[in-house]
Amino acid sequence: DTQREALMAALEAVAERVEAEKGHLTDLDSAIGDADHGANLDRGFQAALEGADPEAAPDEFVKGVGMALVSKVGGASGPLYGGSLAHASTAFEGGIDAESSVAFAESYLEKTKDRGGASVGDKTMVDALTPAVHTYKRAIEEDEVAPLTALSRAVDAAERGVEFTTAIRANKGRASYLGWRSVGHPDPGATSTLYMLEELLGVAS
Ligand code: ADP
Ligand code: MG
Ligand code: MG
Repeated sequence: DTQREALMAALEAVAERVEAEKGHLTDLDSAIGDADHGANLDRGFQAALEGADPEAAPDEFVKGVGMALVSKVGGASGPLYGGSLAHASTAFEGGIDAESSVAFAESYLEKTKDRGGASVGDKTMVDALTPAVHTYKRAIEEDEVAPLTALSRAVDAAERGVEFTTAIRANKGRASYLGWRSVGHPDPGATSTLYMLEELLGVAS
């Protein structure tokens, strides 16, 4: 059905984008980390593509992607991306609609913050994710716009979140070892989070 096809298309788009940005993400991580973020994510999404079951129900499909990322990405980002996807996948048990997509986004953010212990301002993926999720939720629930419009606003919010990470000092993850020397570089995980959201928007459009 159309939800399954949309999920497969989303996975393919994200995997393709990650592959295309592999070098760039690794460059970002070489400035303030250990130069493996692009390779980590690419390995994970290729495995997720290979293991993806086109017949699976939406929640099972997303869970499968999460588990593949947990087992293949490694580093700090693998358990965060993969674990949060697997955890939040239960929001899609009754299918994907505006309401369940908000529940999914909130559950994903909550898990990422719980597991990594990072808050806004620590220079991590949380800095892109938090404004994106809050913007998405408000657009759907208060402004009552269509999910596509809400997602487009969320992408803009994530983009500003990435810019914010450039300006601040890292307090979590490997980049925190650099102290003030981490200032002036965008966070790799915030950047990859933005790319994934951009691809979801592209597929939804
Ligand atoms: P590693 O740092 O172990 O090599 P990656 O390079 O794949 O892992 O991922 C680095 C990214 O992970 C960072 O740019 C940051 O966004 C994210 N990250 C690291 N630690 C945390 C944390 N505690 N909470 C949230 N995100 C984190
Ligand atoms: Mg790294
Ligand atoms: Mg590493």
